[in-house]
Amino acid sequence: MSNTTLQASPDIFTWQTQVWQHLWHAKQNQRLAHALLFLGQDGIGMQEFALAFANAILCSQPNELGNWCRACQACHLLHAGTHPDLIIIEPEKAGQKISVDQIRDIIKSVNETTLQGGYRIVVINPSTSMNTNAANALLKSLEEPVNNTLFILISDEGLRLPATIMSRCQKIVFAKPTHTQAVQWLQAQLKNEKIDTQLLLKLADGAPLRALSLLEKDLLGLRKDVYQGLHALSQGHSDPVKLAAKWQNEDQINMVDLLLSWLTDLLRYKLTEDPAHLINSDYHNEIVKISVSLLKNNLLAYIEHLQQTRGVLLTSANLNKQLLLEDLLIRWTHYVSS
Ligand SMILES: [Zn+2]
Repeated sequence: MSNTTLQASPDIFTWQTQVWQHLWHAKQNQRLAHALLFLGQDGIGMQEFALAFANAILCSQPNELGNWCRACQACHLLHAGTHPDLIIIEPEKAGQKISVDQIRDIIKSVNETTLQGGYRIVVINPSTSMNTNAANALLKSLEEPVNNTLFILISDEGLRLPATIMSRCQKIVFAKPTHTQAVQWLQAQLKNEKIDTQLLLKLADGAPLRALSLLEKDLLGLRKDVYQGLHALSQGHSDPVKLAAKWQNEDQINMVDLLLSWLTDLLRYKLTEDPAHLINSDYHNEIVKISVSLLKNNLLAYIEHLQQTRGVLLTSANLNKQLLLEDLLIRWTHYVSS
């Protein structure tokens, strides 16, 4: 087969073709590992890929490239989201942990024969959301694989899974799309809307699905609001407690990411005095003005604190979010005034 005829399934993204070919080839040759760990940046389409791959495996008559037929009974069930042999485990609520009970239920069903007589596929996303007990419960299934069961664990490459889990999975690394691929995909989604796709992609660190979700959640509006608030705070025209109350219902990770993006730009300009590499290039004038009066060590200390806070937010539930935000904003007022 020549390379020109090698096309991947139509439901994956253009930047995933190689991974698709690699995995589909392994499946065709009965060399597919029983547990795959998908590693990559958040927002580049790993979950979509996992579902497309599951569809291709469960379809009763996929073609040689792994395109599912969309006509067999399995394809109908998959399309309706009711295929009994595709199991997706996610936190019950965003930001929560995957519990040991969720994993135990799955392991029980994995040990029974498959309902459709073929593969059973368990997708765990994000796998770093498993609490310790859940990870330990899963470990047993990874150590004693059941025939025809495929586990797909999806993980943000920046987060760590227990080494015991990692060592029992085949790691599949997902590359970020090239800038051109990302822009093309994003523009196709936005049709004719007049949106600055370059800026949006910069804010999403080049991850196109994340860029789209930033837009859908009106993160650009929130960004404007937050940056105005930070400016008002540094001028003594606003109050951290009042602002924290105003933003208490916003997604805290988004808030921390906005602060990180702003602070990183301030530091970048402080170090290089070159505006070419700013993420928030549309705030170029403000960044130049503010960074002059800030101390490099203060910026570094604040960025480190923000990164720690982000880690805490990702791994803990039940935080007092308003207090956490207040603390971040009070720190900002200290740093800009010292
Ligand atoms: Zn089919």
